[in-house]
Amino acid sequence: MSNVTLSNICKEYDNGYKAVKNVNIDIKDKEFVVLVGPSGCGKSTTLRMIAGLEDITSGELKIGDNVVNDLPPKDRDIAMVFQNYALYPHMTVYDNMAFALKLRKVPKDQIDEKVKEAAKILGLESVLTRKPKALSGGQRQRVALGRSIVREPKVFLMDEPLSNLDAKLRTQMRTEISKLHKKLGTTFIYVTHDQVEAMTMGDRIVVMKDGIVQQTATPQELYQNP
Ligand code: ADP
Ligand code: ADP
Repeated sequence: MSNVTLSNICKEYDNGYKAVKNVNIDIKDKEFVVLVGPSGCGKSTTLRMIAGLEDITSGELKIGDNVVNDLPPKDRDIAMVFQNYALYPHMTVYDNMAFALKLRKVPKDQIDEKVKEAAKILGLESVLTRKPKALSGGQRQRVALGRSIVREPKVFLMDEPLSNLDAKLRTQMRTEISKLHKKLGTTFIYVTHDQVEAMTMGDRIVVMKDGIVQQTATPQELYQNP
């Protein structure tokens, strides 16, 4: 099971700034939850704590049945997709997607199978031998997703993954990510400041403001009672 439970999560940065205050979020297995709110409200900090990239000051974080507060990112069964893609420029698309599995000493034939399957899902089969600089923005974003997919994580974390794309591509990728969620059948936690993204993609939307959760609702509930 890959439900994610945040209980009274707080983050105080070293300079004393309280970025996240007593946040409670109960994310169900296979759910697509969007954290939305204005810049600086604590969305990224919350996501980075789930990923293990930022220490939790207080509170309890569970993934599945395990308290993971003190687990390093690699032991959390999560994958994170960033807004700047962070692709390796000197590696081909194939090698970018294979890299994490090579590090984990996965046998070559299994790596090949997983990379090709991810490439198929993402429509990258024809560009596997290219390097990132020879890709379009949308293709780069798909490679970033592909690198996560091959690891078969239980939970996908995405921090504004579409914000570097132009409006048309953003709309297209919204649909693709929603489809990907259905296809993979895993839990997605998605951060954005874009309300349209939140309303069109989320099964449930967590609205944050000034480090607290202001509201948690389905898109339907938000339409009826904004
Ligand atoms: P969001 O993702 O909603 O834009 P963030 O989680 O990135 O918000 O940041 C929340 C608040 O915490 C902001 O005011 C930001 O400036 C502050 N902040 C983020 N990182 C640090 C840090 N390392 N040290 C101090 N303050 C930080
Ligand atoms: P985002 O795109 O999520 O808003 P930012 O541009 O706010 O990210 O932050 C980029 C980096 O700088 C992050 O690693 C964040 O933790 C750090 N950071 C943000 N605000 C502060 C701050 N007030 N003091 C120190 N580090 C910060």
